[in-house]
Amino acid sequence: MGRDVTTGPFAEARGKLGFGCMRLPLADDGGVDVASFCELVDAFLDGGLNYFDTARPYHSGGSEGAVAAALCARHDRSEFLLADKLSPGSFERREDVRPLIEDQLRACGVDHFDYYLMHSQGMGNYGKYRECGAYEEAFAARGAGLVRHVGLSFHSSAAFLDKILTENPDVEFVQLQLNYLDYDSGVIQGRACREVAAAHGKPVIVMEPVKGGRLVNLPPEAASVLAEAGPGSAASWALRFAAGLPGVEMVLSGMGSMEMVRDNVATFSPLEPLDGAGLAAVERVAEILRGQNTVGCTACRYCVDGCPKKINIPDVFSCLDARRAYGEGSAGFYYRSVHTGNGHGLASECVGCGACERACPQHLPIRELLREVAAEFETQG
Ligand code: SF4
Ligand code: SF4
Repeated sequence: MGRDVTTGPFAEARGKLGFGCMRLPLADDGGVDVASFCELVDAFLDGGLNYFDTARPYHSGGSEGAVAAALCARHDRSEFLLADKLSPGSFERREDVRPLIEDQLRACGVDHFDYYLMHSQGMGNYGKYRECGAYEEAFAARGAGLVRHVGLSFHSSAAFLDKILTENPDVEFVQLQLNYLDYDSGVIQGRACREVAAAHGKPVIVMEPVKGGRLVNLPPEAASVLAEAGPGSAASWALRFAAGLPGVEMVLSGMGSMEMVRDNVATFSPLEPLDGAGLAAVERVAEILRGQNTVGCTACRYCVDGCPKKINIPDVFSCLDARRAYGEGSAGFYYRSVHTGNGHGLASECVGCGACERACPQHLPIRELLREVAAEFETQG
């Protein structure tokens, strides 16, 4: 399973692959298809892996309950490790934090979390966590046995990560966005953030190793680069890149189908990090992708709930990518008939409040991009 860690917060993790519970299979009503999720959970555990990651905002509040039903109610607590998070929109005051953790434990049906993360830390919300004493409350919950390890997930600059880790030396691990497309990006600063974590002696969990699916659904030119370089799915190349980075002890993948679970489990059975030729191949793919005119949205949907016009931001961005990068002829139909209307605003109805941009982990200029969406689909049809 590709593990060589026997000490530290991930010593009990079997394998380096974690099951991210933010893109679970969906039922017809839009909620999580728990029956299908049960099958995925069982296949993941049968594959010799045991790390699961949830958060209150995932699936509009439905992820924790789905985890309770599919995982915690059906498997002995010793069979799995569970991570949950203190999300920015889930508390306002210090007094909110402990009751929230207790409520999350009830929602998941467990008496402790193995990992508890300060969620999506960055310049826009760290001040609130500090003022509310959120880190201190998390450490106190650790002392009380409600959580075993405290970490943070991070979406900002390497310099800011250094500040947070300097101010909170008791944080045990860091969750970073690392993938072969963004690794040296000046915006995401994946390499620099990983180096900061290493300098502070913190192990790293990787999130977004396939960049919300962008490194799975490759254009033909990029897919052929990987096909010529060796066997394996596009996802497997991205996971092998992420898992092979120094200091990385866990790689999360949001899995929504049995095909994804089987493919990912196979990638880690055993894990073979990319060699020099493999690294050259993914760099060539990255060059091709960077040459395309795509938005770079990972469809995390963090921006959606706070939008006063209920604009389906990631979906209209996917329409823009489909038309501009892939020449998809039906993109206009999807824009007008599927992703807007029924209470969901047009891109042109954006009032420019900026709430979405403050929530976006990719630091996308959403308002500007929505103007491009409107120009593409609302003036040309
Ligand atoms: S800036 Fe526009 S898209 Fe963003 S939250 Fe405000 S109204 Fe919605
Ligand atoms: S625009 Fe940003 S916040 Fe919204 S779904 Fe895309 S990456 Fe996530």
